Amino acid sequence: MENQEIREIRRVHLLPPAVAERIAAGEVIERPASVVKELVENSIDAGATEILVLLENGGKDLIEILDNGHGMPREDLELCVQRHATSKLRSLEDLESIRSLGFRGEALPSVAAASELSILSRARDSSTGTAYEINLGVFGEKPVAKATTFGHFLSSPHGTRVQARGLFAQIPARLKFLKSQAAEVSQVREWIERLALAHPRIGFRLVSDDRQVLSLRPQEESARVRSILSNDEDYPLLTESAEVDASLRLRVHWLQGFSTPQTRRLVQVVNGRALRDRLLQQALLSPFRQALLPGQFPAVALYLEIDPAELDVNVHPTKTEIRFLDTRKVFRAVETLVERLIEKNGAPAVAPASSSFSPSWSTPPTPIHQQAMRFATHVASHPEKPLVAAEPSQTQTPEQAHARNPAFPYLPPNQLIGILFQTYLLYDMGQELVLIDQHAAHERIRYESLRRGAFHVGGQRVAPQALLIPEAVRFEAESRKDLEERLPLLAKLGFEAEIFGEDTLLFRSIPAAWGPQDLRTRLKSLVERALLIEDPRASIELDETLFEKLASEACHSAVRAGDRLEREEAFHLVDQLSFCEHPWNCPHGRPTLVKVGRGKLEEWFQRRV
Ligand code: ADP
Ligand code: MG
Repeated sequence: MENQEIREIRRVHLLPPAVAERIAAGEVIERPASVVKELVENSIDAGATEILVLLENGGKDLIEILDNGHGMPREDLELCVQRHATSKLRSLEDLESIRSLGFRGEALPSVAAASELSILSRARDSSTGTAYEINLGVFGEKPVAKATTFGHFLSSPHGTRVQARGLFAQIPARLKFLKSQAAEVSQVREWIERLALAHPRIGFRLVSDDRQVLSLRPQEESARVRSILSNDEDYPLLTESAEVDASLRLRVHWLQGFSTPQTRRLVQVVNGRALRDRLLQQALLSPFRQALLPGQFPAVALYLEIDPAELDVNVHPTKTEIRFLDTRKVFRAVETLVERLIEKNGAPAVAPASSSFSPSWSTPPTPIHQQAMRFATHVASHPEKPLVAAEPSQTQTPEQAHARNPAFPYLPPNQLIGILFQTYLLYDMGQELVLIDQHAAHERIRYESLRRGAFHVGGQRVAPQALLIPEAVRFEAESRKDLEERLPLLAKLGFEAEIFGEDTLLFRSIPAAWGPQDLRTRLKSLVERALLIEDPRASIELDETLFEKLASEACHSAVRAGDRLEREEAFHLVDQLSFCEHPWNCPHGRPTLVKVGRGKLEEWFQRRV
């Protein structure tokens, strides 16, 4: 029986248009959120300033988008649902300078193939003021636009209303994969939020079964970032921007002190396009590696403006991935900007307004020798083992520590006014109250000490540990040269490897501290990091498995909240913290230091209105 079927000769034939269209539609449309994304992008491209999205039954029954954009004249309306019909591109060369979100002319035909589509539109320069409507109830029917009297959208004289009913009703294989109504609505919301972040000047609303889920007025970029990323919590939003050259500009907004196990608050916008780009995400996260536990992510929004000629946006049908001509330049630019942001501001949960900095804070007049002296005195005055033990491998000079942490305040011992709840050290700094969390601070100190100890003993690198069976890691043949150049760096870090054949790297030894878990995967990601990172001092050998091990050890060995510290021990703790490479956070990313400005207290007591 089966054999007979196989023997039957399959002839080549053209698919019926309805089948071909439905298969093609699947590339663009997976679920209600993808319909919303495509339609809202069209509204943005049409210059809308107000966009309303309505859903019924999570979008399965109805998805409706209303905009006040420039609309479409009758002829465009009849054409727009055909495959490869677009107003945004004429020639292949236009792709080099594309600024619009769409250009493939695939979205509307795909939505039409997956649902019952109708579009109502009134063009901005329609002299008659007539609105036209097309209905594609039956698939494949040639659309004919009919004049209609209903033509007002969001109180604008022009605009477009798109309705898609019964999504996937004809494609059961797809329908099956839709999730609960709540889950689909949340995905729609997530997409609208991303588009809204990319276009802060546009107002967005989302209404699901008559319930308003989201409402955003037109805003400034930073205000929009704050409204979407902060969840109405009062975290400081810090911004840093850079112009690398005439073709590359970038800005990063960071919600300081906030961390979450979701990656939802990692935003990447390139030329107004909201993306999920792995490379950009890595570049954004790598400077936080020191500050956050694996599995915890910061809230950061990256806005990148790049000459469209240095970019290929046509990598994927939904255009959520892109390709940069000079990957390394972009990676480096993003990473450097985020590093600068963290270095400048640290991670206190309450950032001081820069104007309220008292002079002795920002640039203490004699901090370097003061720190050196304090360091010396404390080492000398603590011969017995205190609760907070000195970290023996702390080998940085005070100059090094200070050069890394220009903003970390000097907290004079005589300004320690007490310890609250046996947990928080309080410093009266004249214009501010500074609180140090004793556990978080000690965790940071312990973590950095353990990390140094893992790779160094007495200032010497720990000898690499030979692998019984060498571990092979494949790489892309075109990276071969770059990889060859980086082998000495890897060797210096304790990874002895050689290139084998065309595309394989054979690891013969690794640093002992690395441990044996998941070796192949971890070595593969080490190779990826090595290829991306240009700074040879970067500690690329610290991967997440090792990080986790050290961070948890640090946590267990640190003083706890509630442990009673002597004043001397408190000084000592703060002292050691100021010598840390990343003094602002514990390894889990919680702040070690929080500042409360005098103004805040005056507000509480209503001294100021
Ligand atoms: P693309 O966006 O890639 O051009 P689409 O299939 O999404 O392809 O849309 C086809 C065309 O229909 C667009 O190029 C645009 O001219 C027109 N169009 C679609 N939606 C709107 C809208 N909301 N307002 C005005 N014109 C629209
Ligand atoms: Mg489009």
